[in-house]
Amino acid sequence: MFAKISRNSVNSFPTSMLLATARRSAATQPSRRVLRTTRNFTVLAFESSADDTCAAVVTSSREILSNVVIKQHDLHEGYGGIHPMIAIEAHQRNLPIAVKRALKEANVSVAKDIDGIAFTRGPGIGGCLSVGSNAAKTLAAALDLPIVGVHHMQAHALTPLLTSWPNPPKFPFLTLLVSGGHTLLLLATSLTSFRILATTPDESIGRSFDKVSRMLGLKWTAFGPGAALEQFAGQQWDADLPDIGNFPRPLRGKLGFSYASLHSFVERCIAAKQGIQNIDEGFKLALARGFQTAAVAHLEEKLLLAFEWCAQNKIHVQDVVVSGGVASNSYLRERLAECLKTVDTTVPISLSFPPPSLCTDNAVMIAWASMHRFLARDHDEYTIGLRPKWSIEELSS
Ligand code: ATP
Ligand code: FE
Repeated sequence: MFAKISRNSVNSFPTSMLLATARRSAATQPSRRVLRTTRNFTVLAFESSADDTCAAVVTSSREILSNVVIKQHDLHEGYGGIHPMIAIEAHQRNLPIAVKRALKEANVSVAKDIDGIAFTRGPGIGGCLSVGSNAAKTLAAALDLPIVGVHHMQAHALTPLLTSWPNPPKFPFLTLLVSGGHTLLLLATSLTSFRILATTPDESIGRSFDKVSRMLGLKWTAFGPGAALEQFAGQQWDADLPDIGNFPRPLRGKLGFSYASLHSFVERCIAAKQGIQNIDEGFKLALARGFQTAAVAHLEEKLLLAFEWCAQNKIHVQDVVVSGGVASNSYLRERLAECLKTVDTTVPISLSFPPPSLCTDNAVMIAWASMHRFLARDHDEYTIGLRPKWSIEELSS
């Protein structure tokens, strides 16, 4: 039953996690299914919190047996953002296809090989979350399987514990979560304890990338508007670029993010020329590069401030994890690596990014974030509700 085709296997689940699991499990009543295994637990996971319909099969031995993502960018391009009703309908259409494909690619039988089902419980768009959650619960009830509802941002944050094996980040570590709905700088002290050191009161970095990409009239690539901006900004250009002035540096010296003023700066530059139709390619490129540089510099400044905060509070941090869709940006990856070289420490800081395909939304991260709970036999009731708004700090309470 647990003999699996070994694909993408990285190694077994950390022993410390299994021991913690065994200790906690003594207190809880295991389901019939969970009793069948401790070492190699296989999770089928669903993710449908925003505009990607995802299903994946992952084992506790770190095997990613399948990872299916059905994107909806083409459906939302005309609306300038995620249209909730269209996203819900697309999830309803696509989820059965994604699940079927995930099981087929993993070469597993849902009745015989799956030990637990995980889904995104929040945060996200309520109607979108409910598609994945209802499917997960109904399938689990029919098969008598345990379920775990996962926090989407915790899943982004824990991905490097799966993908950076055999050298995963060690707690406590700093985490930058840069995505479509969030810009968070966190101190992670355990799998479930996250302290927010900085967040944004206005707009996320991802939305800001999306807005600037749209303002510049860039064609969305298969990976969406942010990736289109990165591609455009990275093009070869031998001529001099025009001077567009200096981007603002919001909340200078403070542990907090603000991205609205960066895209407003681009908006004002375009308005000063009476519209994008009057802007030549060189000016457009200067705006795209200027924005990307300012957006990433904002992260660099706050990351260094977080290290100062840790030093003041005598918290010894040696690892930084960066995840979420914007973490797939290669300019950001290069800049953050450079920035961390300037931190005053005896040992170099280790920086972990998931591979780009696991930075944007996927169900592998949902499966992985559920694993410690399944192994601890700490699963949810089938009646568990959704949390469309859910602070990551509440996980530890
Ligand atoms: P959240 O995780 O906060 O709920 P989300 O799930 O919608 O939001 P993700 O899928 O994690 O967000 O990330 C999507 C965001 O990442 C979008 O704003 C997208 O434009 C941005 N993004 C993706 N690739 C890149 C890139 N190469 N450069 C910059 N931004 C990018
Ligand atoms: Fe996300």
